[in-house]
Amino acid sequence: MIKGKISEIFESIQGEGLFVGERHLFVRFYGCNLTCKFCDTHLTYFEEYEPSRLLEIVAQRRNGSSCVVFTGGEPLLQTDFLKEVVGRTKEAGFKNYLETNGSMPEALEEVIEYMDIVAMDLKLPTSTGMPGFLKAHTRFLEIAMRKDCFLKAVICLSTEESDINEMIRLFHENRIHATVVLQPNSQELSIRLLKKIDQFKARLIEANIATCMIPQLHKIIGAP
Ligand code: SF4
Repeated sequence: MIKGKISEIFESIQGEGLFVGERHLFVRFYGCNLTCKFCDTHLTYFEEYEPSRLLEIVAQRRNGSSCVVFTGGEPLLQTDFLKEVVGRTKEAGFKNYLETNGSMPEALEEVIEYMDIVAMDLKLPTSTGMPGFLKAHTRFLEIAMRKDCFLKAVICLSTEESDINEMIRLFHENRIHATVVLQPNSQELSIRLLKKIDQFKARLIEANIATCMIPQLHKIIGAP
């Protein structure tokens, strides 16, 4: 029987993105294929679960929540296990919400039919300190847009306008219709950063891309 490596299962309010403030049940997958310099999720612990055991815990902790968020790390690194689980949560009446770094389109194709919401990170090189993922992001978005999809880009003091221009090009060349959430790097929250985000937001809106700025609410109010 296939097993998944899970770091934590908890109920909380959604602290990021367009569904911020909703009560969700979170399943955090262990492991990530990227090394973003602003990463605040350093997972050192996991337990192995069979899908049926994970489903039992999800049902026990439901507490009125109608949405299960598969987050990480990167959940798509464990595609076979994820596929098994999301099929069952869907049958149990949950909405499936995937938080992903958008770098593994082939894995997304395996599970997209079971997903309701896809929250995809746009990894900007001058934010992450890593090379860009434009090709993978483009293919990923083509698949993700079959469902309710939005993008999140973490903006740091180091983020350069050239990355915003690349984002605009990606949207226009591939006819992408999805809202972009600009999320300030919580470790650098400052007036200077917020001003920079305002400028980027204006630039994106000028390019006809729906854009908003949403900080990490759970960090502000001290939720898990
Ligand atoms: S993709 Fe997410 S979990 Fe992985 S390194 Fe980047 S911020 Fe951290």
